[in-house]
Amino acid sequence: MLSCREVVQDADQLLAGELTWQRRMSLQMHVLMCHHCRRYIKQLRLLIRGIPFMHAKASDDEVDQVMAHICSGDNSEH
Ligand SMILES: [Zn+2]
Repeated sequence: MLSCREVVQDADQLLAGELTWQRRMSLQMHVLMCHHCRRYIKQLRLLIRGIPFMHAKASDDEVDQVMAHICSGDNSEH
């Protein structure tokens, strides 16, 4: 089972289709079970669609900000 941090770090590559199918399977397993990452992936997908040039890999700072944002949300389902 991947950690949420790993999912967030790989999310942009997942949406760009740059991951191996094994890695995609691992991410999808996590996303199926994790409400927070599901929401993150959905939002990232919308963001990438809206802003096509934002395909660069997220920096560590950006990942931390996103994780802080996710974790400060509703934790009732975890
Ligand atoms: Zn997660």
